[in-house]
Amino acid sequence: MQPSAETTQKSGRLILFTGPSGVGKNKILTALFELHPNQLKYSISTTTRTPRVGEVDGKDYHFVSTPVFEALIAEDGFLEYAQYNGQYYGTPKAEINDWLAEGFDVVLEIETQGALQIMAKIPASQLFSVFILPPEPAIETLRARLQTRNTETPEEIEARLMQSQRELLEAPKFQHQLVNTVVADTAKALSQLLYGKNST
Ligand code: 5GP
Repeated sequence: MQPSAETTQKSGRLILFTGPSGVGKNKILTALFELHPNQLKYSISTTTRTPRVGEVDGKDYHFVSTPVFEALIAEDGFLEYAQYNGQYYGTPKAEINDWLAEGFDVVLEIETQGALQIMAKIPASQLFSVFILPPEPAIETLRARLQTRNTETPEEIEARLMQSQRELLEAPKFQHQLVNTVVADTAKALSQLLYGKNST
């Protein structure tokens, strides 16, 4: 698909889309892509974690073994990668540069260590970074959402909440911070930050 006229004249931006587990990142992105289907591309990450029920290889993630992931690291196949709760997650380099050159904005839905790696090596003018926050009380909100989602064991949920406490401290390093109370509102606010007031 061709990018819209609005984006054909210049290269796109890398969108660093970050926030703690359970904050609602996937739902916000689904709504954002519905608003801007022709301007955005989603970078499918590679991971060693086990697929959740309903997740599809090649759509949600490229699911690989640890040796395969480590071979990809050795081949310099990732723009960034990190370990999160004992599993590897990484952004494959393939496609991203082509999409940017074609004028698409490319969304990387990644955790904070990976986002900070990219901020350290790519000029801020080529980036758009946003950190999604839960409504206060932050950790209690996340715990309730993860329990409702019911895709992790109680131990895994607590490990993710520990990780979230560390990630929340990094929120000020992002260009934008949005509190996700109602998904549709958060997606609209993000759309306005990206494309201006009359974007929807
Ligand atoms: P989940 O297991 O919930 O799908 O993802 C766990 C965390 O890893 C989330 O914060 C998610 O944004 C992050 N993540 C997903 N893909 C990547 C990636 O390619 N690189 C990095 N650094 N983090 C990722």
